[in-house]
Amino acid sequence: MTHNAELDLAAIREDFPILHQEVKGRPLVYLDNAATTQKPKAVIDAVSHYYQAINSNVHRGAHTLSDLATRDFENARASVQGYVNAPSTDNIIWTRGTTEALNLVAHSYARVFLKPGDEIIVSGLEHHSNIVPWQITCEITGAVLKVIPVLANGELDMEAFSSLLSARTRLVSVAHVSNALGTINPVKQIIDQAHEVGALVCIDGAQAVPHWAIDVQTLDCDFYAFSGHKLYGPTGIGALYAKAELLDKMVPYQAGGEMIERVSFSGTTFNQPPYKFEAGTPNISGAIGLAAAIEYLKQLPTQAIEAHEAALMNYANEKAADMKGIRLVGTAKEKTGAFSFLLDGTHPHDVGTLLDQQGIAVRTGHHCAMPLMDHFEIPGTVRASFAFYNTPAEIDQLFTGLEKAKMLLL
Ligand code: PMP
Repeated sequence: MTHNAELDLAAIREDFPILHQEVKGRPLVYLDNAATTQKPKAVIDAVSHYYQAINSNVHRGAHTLSDLATRDFENARASVQGYVNAPSTDNIIWTRGTTEALNLVAHSYARVFLKPGDEIIVSGLEHHSNIVPWQITCEITGAVLKVIPVLANGELDMEAFSSLLSARTRLVSVAHVSNALGTINPVKQIIDQAHEVGALVCIDGAQAVPHWAIDVQTLDCDFYAFSGHKLYGPTGIGALYAKAELLDKMVPYQAGGEMIERVSFSGTTFNQPPYKFEAGTPNISGAIGLAAAIEYLKQLPTQAIEAHEAALMNYANEKAADMKGIRLVGTAKEKTGAFSFLLDGTHPHDVGTLLDQQGIAVRTGHHCAMPLMDHFEIPGTVRASFAFYNTPAEIDQLFTGLEKAKMLLL
């Protein structure tokens, strides 16, 4: 593969302590980054510093530690705002992750404002988190769920999308990048077309934000959801971006704590967004850890990172082209992160187990995208998913591991 002179991979890998270990007596090859990414030391240190030095509850202390915790927690919101280029920190709501962010939109917007006969459009390659909240919404409101078909190469059928759109369409919710196939969807086109019929657009960005800094204002999406743990940050923290006018009219998600302005038994008034949607003590250390991840990413050479990730994907494609008995699942022109495949005559789980014996971590199964697996009439895939700290040598190890698995299984 093309050598990327600008990127010091060895130095980058030094930043990730977990990578330097053996699994099953072999150096760990971590290729399960679409499930969760590893954390740089900067993130681990930020979380540890919070607990060692300033642990306190936020927004309510009349004491120094609480002020420090509140400052770092709210600065973290500003880091997320900057990373997605939201107009204000008020557009950023903390959630537990993508799943909770999507459920928040379903609960606080769709369930309240949709009526019988309205339509929600998702795509056939969505993660269950971007299907089930809308199914429940449809059951409750009488709205109807429509699905953009997936083409044989794993791209969305955009002609079919155009014909699904109508004055009945109220909401379109699609993944920016497919977790199962790596397909990068044409979300800008989807957003513009949906807006033409007056529909709102929610983007599941779980698999996009780890690969590039997105710009919600250029995209002009109405909602954008993502998880911190796929962005080199801690688990249990994520964010929802939403336009201000929507946040103003949406109803609270959960009740209690920070979302309240004033409570009395004659009635309760709610806090302003984003706090209106943040009930209970938040994941303070998680937010601070996520901000540390964003700050870490910001000091990396963006173009070199993107070129390196693209080169890893190209290299995996070249290796696959040279291998007998491998079938790629998802061959979209625009792909990032996930590299899904099957080995003829084998079950994905068996391949995954044999790779693990060789210290190689991949994911096998349906990847929480059962309708997509049904569409391709397969039980699941083996998915290797890349991050910028992966090396060409690790891809060589994956393919050597696959040849061994083939020998043992066939
Ligand atoms: N959507 C996509 C595309 C995903 O990849 C994932 C995680 N696999 C999710 C949603 C759910 O993310 P989380 O489990 O962090 O809420």
